[in-house]
Amino acid sequence: MRIVVLLQTLGFAALFGLAGCAPAALTEGDLAAVAHPPAQVQAEVAQLLPVAMRELDPIEAHILAAGRPLTPVEMGFARRAGVAHPEKVRVLAWPQAFRPPEDKAFAKVYHPQGAFAITFGYGIALRKEAPWVLAHELVHVGQYERLGGREAFTRAYLTQTLVLKTYAIPLEREAFKRGNQISPVPQGATRRWIETLQ
Ligand SMILES: [Zn+2]
Repeated sequence: MRIVVLLQTLGFAALFGLAGCAPAALTEGDLAAVAHPPAQVQAEVAQLLPVAMRELDPIEAHILAAGRPLTPVEMGFARRAGVAHPEKVRVLAWPQAFRPPEDKAFAKVYHPQGAFAITFGYGIALRKEAPWVLAHELVHVGQYERLGGREAFTRAYLTQTLVLKTYAIPLEREAFKRGNQISPVPQGATRRWIETLQ
């Protein structure tokens, strides 16, 4: 059985489980496999994608309805994170968003229980309120925009996770590296992890 991977964020950063497991550099083979995923991965993504959207769409809808807009300082973070429409972002402290999903197959790749934050589309749910967490999530918002929306991002995130079988997928590497430049991650295991990405 697949070693459970941490798809905690679908933009949804989860910063746990990183201590002591610095990620290896991605090889050209890794990147080629991500660009041209094996048929088995494509089939798995095709199965999981509608489930993911069904589970996660209501999360974004709730955050957009109940969340607060970014502060002026956070707007600056968003622009540095590459977000084209920071005025659309909403942030909500919402512990209930970190429940495991109902679908068993999706729960094998998405387990937000230990996550600090979850981002879906323009909705950011926070369990840990810290500038560096928000900076990381805003990089994911920029990725959603760049890739063409929630479904395209989710497809890419699932594919990278299933191909590489690690949390250190390109989308997370970018979010950690760029987020750390916007608001530095405090000293500790996670910071050491990030430094290996430089
Ligand atoms: Zn992340």
